[in-house]
Amino acid sequence: MTIEIVRTTHPKPKPDPNNLVFGTVFTDHMFVMDYSEEKGWHDPKIVPYGPIEIEPANMTLHYGQTVFEGMKAYKTEDGEVLLYRPYENMKRINRSNDRLCIPEIDVDACVEYLKELIRLEKDWIPEGKGTSLYIRPFIFATDNHLGVRPSHTYKFMIILSPVGAYYKEGLNPVKIYVEPSYVRAVRGGIGYAKTAGNYAASIKAQMDAAKKGYTQVLWLDGVHRKYIEEVGTMNVFFKIDGEIVTPMLNGSILAGITRDSAIQVLKSWGMTVTERELSIQEVYDAHAAGKLEEVFGTGTAAVISPVGELNWDGNVITINDGKIGEISSKLYDTITGIQSGKIEDTFGFVERV
Ligand SMILES: *Cc1c(COP(=O)(O)O)cnc(C)c1O
Repeated sequence: MTIEIVRTTHPKPKPDPNNLVFGTVFTDHMFVMDYSEEKGWHDPKIVPYGPIEIEPANMTLHYGQTVFEGMKAYKTEDGEVLLYRPYENMKRINRSNDRLCIPEIDVDACVEYLKELIRLEKDWIPEGKGTSLYIRPFIFATDNHLGVRPSHTYKFMIILSPVGAYYKEGLNPVKIYVEPSYVRAVRGGIGYAKTAGNYAASIKAQMDAAKKGYTQVLWLDGVHRKYIEEVGTMNVFFKIDGEIVTPMLNGSILAGITRDSAIQVLKSWGMTVTERELSIQEVYDAHAAGKLEEVFGTGTAAVISPVGELNWDGNVITINDGKIGEISSKLYDTITGIQSGKIEDTFGFVERV
């Protein structure tokens, strides 16, 4: 497939990699492709990064028919560029597409388009430890129409943003608030799709938790308010009495690619990983019995995020004395090592650009 490239005439200065704030700086170019019922996905092109024009009646603004992805590219010490599991992200956008009635994309073609864009923006990939290029593919409805129905036209775009080290002073355990009243998603809803509505639904709880001094909320299931779902934009893992437990994918949880990576790596170490229903009560009971050894979140942004404190209805527990657990730390080193090409990839996770 041929892809048209229109280069910018005004390249921007590169930001200082030591002062990057996540999601604030974008590279010189972006990828755009259109969909219509007659032509399918067509006209893939790379153009200068910049504003796009939409009408006030754009359906996405009113009904939220849109999906996105989040992934990263890394520069190795020898200047090679590695993508982390890009096919998994493109497959997941198709699962989100299916739920939102957005036409399927061609996974292989889209990974090729992404590689083309990254090759053009190679100099934007920061080089320091822990830095990367964040990749945001997204699709949105472009019909101008009021009234709920699937759009007949869509845009697929990819924008890129250089990101600094998530942990400047080493892995830092976070404090998590167990959300007692709001819910993020329910089975049968759109919880497993990476789509705007899920995040809009989460903001209020996030703001309330922040006011109380907590970094993120831990979501409980929408029906019983009992079973653990996930943390903010991360999946969550518990080490209880030597065993790793994580909530099973039940339709309301996002199937994280870092979650899947963590499971594969933990199993390769001979650890038992169980995906099942896990209640917040069970976690508190395990803590009371001295068996809750570690808690950590997994997601593209932080990779591994150790949890040092949980607050459930005013009952505050400290995990592993508020320090980083051995498994969290080893997982972080292993996955980031594979991502940056420092550790041999025996899992087939990285893709050369
Ligand atoms: C993106 C996301 C995750 C993590 O997925 P990764 O593929 O590991 O980045 C977890 N939960 C939610 C709600 C998310 O949006």
